[in-house]
Amino acid sequence: MAAKEEGPAIGIDLGTTYSCVAMWKNDRVEIIANDQGSRTTPSYVAFTDKERFIGDAAKNQVDMNSKNTVYDAKRLIGRRFNDESVQRDMKLWPFKVVDGDGGKPMIVIKSKGEEKQLAPELVSSMILSKMRQIAEDFHGSTVKNAVITVPAYFNDSQRQATKDAGEIAGLNVMKIINEPTAAAIAYGLDKKNSGAGERNVLIFDLGGGTFDVSLLTIDKDTFQVKAIAGDTHLGGEDFDNNLVDHFVKEFRQKYKKDVSQKPRALQRLRSACERAKRTLSFTSQTSIHVDYLFQGIDFHSNISRTKFEELNMDLFSKCITQVENCLRDAKMDKSSVHDIVLVGGSTRIPKVQQLLKDFFNGKNLCKNINPDESVAYGAAIQAALLSGQGNETMQGLVLTDVTPLSLGVEVGGCIMSVLIPRNTTIPTKKEKVFSTGADFQSVVRIDVYEGERARTMDNNFLGRVSLFGILPAPRGFPQINVCFEIDENGILNVSAEDKTTGMTNKITITNDKGRMSRDEIEKMVKEAEKYEAEDKEYKKKVEAKLSLEGYVSHMRHIVKSEKITSKLPAGKKKKILGDINRVIEWLNESDEVVEANIYEDKKKELEIICRPVFEILSDDDGDIEVGIDDEAFLSYAMGGVKIEDVD
Ligand code: AMP
Repeated sequence: MAAKEEGPAIGIDLGTTYSCVAMWKNDRVEIIANDQGSRTTPSYVAFTDKERFIGDAAKNQVDMNSKNTVYDAKRLIGRRFNDESVQRDMKLWPFKVVDGDGGKPMIVIKSKGEEKQLAPELVSSMILSKMRQIAEDFHGSTVKNAVITVPAYFNDSQRQATKDAGEIAGLNVMKIINEPTAAAIAYGLDKKNSGAGERNVLIFDLGGGTFDVSLLTIDKDTFQVKAIAGDTHLGGEDFDNNLVDHFVKEFRQKYKKDVSQKPRALQRLRSACERAKRTLSFTSQTSIHVDYLFQGIDFHSNISRTKFEELNMDLFSKCITQVENCLRDAKMDKSSVHDIVLVGGSTRIPKVQQLLKDFFNGKNLCKNINPDESVAYGAAIQAALLSGQGNETMQGLVLTDVTPLSLGVEVGGCIMSVLIPRNTTIPTKKEKVFSTGADFQSVVRIDVYEGERARTMDNNFLGRVSLFGILPAPRGFPQINVCFEIDENGILNVSAEDKTTGMTNKITITNDKGRMSRDEIEKMVKEAEKYEAEDKEYKKKVEAKLSLEGYVSHMRHIVKSEKITSKLPAGKKKKILGDINRVIEWLNESDEVVEANIYEDKKKELEIICRPVFEILSDDDGDIEVGIDDEAFLSYAMGGVKIEDVD
């Protein structure tokens, strides 16, 4: 377990589609709302000619800027460009991904007119920075320490890359924990409070794009992950897509036109379908309306819950099959499961709940934890624990994980010989004796792999231990004892010993293959800082522009008002209006945003030009009537120009 850290600590659920941040405050977990008031934030980053958007602002403009709006970075992080899943996902994304240095997938975007390649870690770091910012706004000071969650099936390289993303975002990542484990912490704490004993808990996590099932055993203070299963491509978005297909067909039948040809129309239809899907979780029937959907046609239709269920029944059934797989891996009968916990927004679908309940012979499902927030909730508890906060109930809450993938060595014919099967509880130690494959072999190389496939070429290479000076002997005679040991932080140590000579060698697997070097991380930290500085600079410019725009429009309104007209000589008024209009024209001439000081200087000039207006206003005995907005503006403008200081 990591050492206790000073200062506030947050828990971040870095989701594929949405992220959520929580922190321990005032003796309880607070799920922190973002600047839009939402408790979850889209895991989206977008780039335009002028600026960068993260979260809701990025998602809201996706229709207009799909090629430069990046999401699903979690599907790329820690993976290779040639990975089957990357190749498959790429076909679905509007943004481009290319094969970068060392086979790393790089996301191509155009920012400020320039083409750039971004590492998935950098994109994820931007989302993490946003979550950190949300927490800092809430907490009122800097927040550095964080626990970040990842899916239970993430391999070491994906975990390390997520950790790197945290570092790039300026966070001190105290621990990376499994999402279901985090949900179980949130859930287990509740159980602990009510004094229940040992329980087998099934976490059913059906989100926007992914589905995870985990089986945990909670025994007093210990959470043990017994098995994991799931589907990396199953979730709410698939249900939305099935609805979209249904309405595209209906549209074709009704109007003999194909909406699917137009991505923007399809995107608008998808948004309407997602809303309809959510409504159907609470009603038996709903309608969808999309004005000007395609070639000027307004589309209106209805959908019943029964039809929605029929369209998605195959997918719902797949979820139950994965539950069966998970139980099989854990060698546990369903009757031994004490609790079934729902996590993820899609578990609100009544049919999903019913199928799960039926599978467990009518057992009640645990829904008392908000399905969108429980992962961040648990991560925040873990973060509080690691930073020495929290209350007595939390103390001593030990977290036990399992190996997400099998670990083994390569034997003759490039076959994987497993020493530690997947889902083995850690820490663990396993030994196995191997021998030479050739006569009089003096060197033995032990190649370590992770993965579930029979051939090592289909698995992930982790490292090599070599033993030299083996005494000459026919093949099969030397006895080489190989030992795999995983500590509580998931670090794998592999050692080999020649039993005849007693010679040993060992390595610690750090999985350098997928990891970025210190230099690369430093480089990305700088890049992230550069983006942030540019954002700040641009914001300053936009604020200066908005301030000038507001000023001229209000001033024009005031100067043109009847009361000012009656008190200001016509020539003076004409001159002032002329100057104001010139600035307005200048502002309208181009969408470009120039340096902030140019707007500020123009405003200062106008303030001096408009001084006579303020003199009239300050002499006013109250008979100048202005609107509420103008009133606020006047008090600001009069204070702002400090008319008492002007000669
Ligand atoms: P998550 O990734 O856990 O935040 O889940 C997000 C997914 O949950 C999205 O696909 C949402 O459309 C879906 N979702 C949220 N609320 C509901 C609901 N009431 N009924 C059905 N799906 C929902």
